[in-house]
Amino acid sequence: MLRYADYDIVFQEIPDEITLAVNLSNCPNRCKGCHSPHLMEDVGEPLTEESLSLLLRKYGKAITCICFMGGDASPAEIEHLAEYLYRQSIAPVKVGWYSGKPELPPDIVLNFFNYIKLGPYVEHLGGLKSAETNQRLYRIEKGKMEDITRRLALSLP
Ligand code: SF4
Repeated sequence: MLRYADYDIVFQEIPDEITLAVNLSNCPNRCKGCHSPHLMEDVGEPLTEESLSLLLRKYGKAITCICFMGGDASPAEIEHLAEYLYRQSIAPVKVGWYSGKPELPPDIVLNFFNYIKLGPYVEHLGGLKSAETNQRLYRIEKGKMEDITRRLALSLP
């Protein structure tokens, strides 16, 4: 089961969006120099349709996007919850997924997502805000992935 350790409203993870970033635990990726080692433990509250609907009721008017930060141990659950967000009518939000895997699982349905970040954290290359990063941020339009990694770097002060 997916669990979330905490969440926060953030402005720079996805360009032009006010994002509720939900930090998922039980990360299997074990990146050297991990910025959030507590997320490797299986801790936190279950992330379900019910918990997402509570977050939508509480923050739906203040945000434009919900982003799953992690969840690589259960990509099918991520897809299921992305489909829930895509179909729900509590508050219209875009859907993002920050995965630490270099590639998506082959059977993932892209239509339920608006943004996907791929790539593990490699210490000497840096995260998405680094010019040398190996990580990529994509916008999803009609099932196609457009690389917008540079947009993120350019939006920084
Ligand atoms: S994907 Fe993120 S949370 Fe997981 S080990 Fe790598 S840096 Fe840490």
